[in-house]
Amino acid sequence: MTEKSFLEKQFEDIECNLKKINEKISAAAEKSGRKREDIRFMTVTKTVDVFRINKAIECGVDLIGENNVQEFLSKKPDLNLSGVESHLIGHLQTNKVSKIVGQVDMIESVDSIKLANEISKQSLKIGVTTDVLIEVNIAGEENKTGLPLEQLNDFLYEISKLPAIKVKGLMTIPPFSLNNAENCKFFSKMHNIYVDIRSKKIHNINMDILSMGMSGDYEDAIACGSNLVRIGSAVFGPRIY
Ligand SMILES: *Cc1c(COP(=O)(O)O)cnc(C)c1O
Repeated sequence: MTEKSFLEKQFEDIECNLKKINEKISAAAEKSGRKREDIRFMTVTKTVDVFRINKAIECGVDLIGENNVQEFLSKKPDLNLSGVESHLIGHLQTNKVSKIVGQVDMIESVDSIKLANEISKQSLKIGVTTDVLIEVNIAGEENKTGLPLEQLNDFLYEISKLPAIKVKGLMTIPPFSLNNAENCKFFSKMHNIYVDIRSKKIHNINMDILSMGMSGDYEDAIACGSNLVRIGSAVFGPRIY
């Protein structure tokens, strides 16, 4: 018997990890009174090579997330993306906007009106409307991306005026914690804000997506109302930079 190649072993791990995560998402959804199909599962593919990403897609992944514009664009030609959505989830600099608009299905990391303006401008230029999420810095952490909570109301009214942007919901990355109660404090706070904005029925602002929860805390996030979890290392193993 020949020994399995390193890549074959990695492929087996990916398949097995995806199965386990899907089961946990189902259980967490059920616990929160929802169905498995109410929760979207994004596989975060930053630093992961195209072979392993394509393996995940072959195993049924239909939504991938990348952090870096350059990295995504260089991998994109080799990815089997038919039927697969891709979202940008990492911090986006204004000067990279023209490169990414039209190349992803959603930008989840919009956290300034300057950035939103540029996305709208570049989208108009190529005749598309770009779906976005507003990234909120829920814990008010310094040196962290995301819109400060106290600016959210004004921001909503500003962004709702932009012609080529469609707001689909909110995204957040809470402080890292292994404590379930601590996680739920921030996830629940986000969920309340999401529900509150939805009830205001602001023109051009939809609250369909609440993107929160990563490898270490996605079950907590679902328990607190998340409907899109972004999971990387639990699928592919620790990232090698
Ligand atoms: C890397 C990343 C993730 C996934 O993190 P894991 O802990 O590996 O699951 C999710 N969201 C964002 C914005 C990220 O940058």
